[in-house]
Amino acid sequence: MTRHHCLRCGAPLTGDEIALYKKMISRAAEAYLCLDCLAGECSATREKLEALIAFYHRTGICTLFAKYEDGE
Ligand SMILES: [Zn+2]
Repeated sequence: MTRHHCLRCGAPLTGDEIALYKKMISRAAEAYLCLDCLAGECSATREKLEALIAFYHRTGICTLFAKYEDGE
């Protein structure tokens, strides 16, 4: 968990959720949505977003995910 909270529902955010939000919405973002809210925003499912996070971790192609690995 990080010190950040979801902009919409106030849920505590993980580093992965922040990284995914930055990846999908804006790298310059300073406020973020949790997976559930982001899924609603993107017309995706939470499962789909979790799969995406796993994909980025596995491939290591996105530096955002490495950066937030330890949480902040
Ligand atoms: Zn939320």
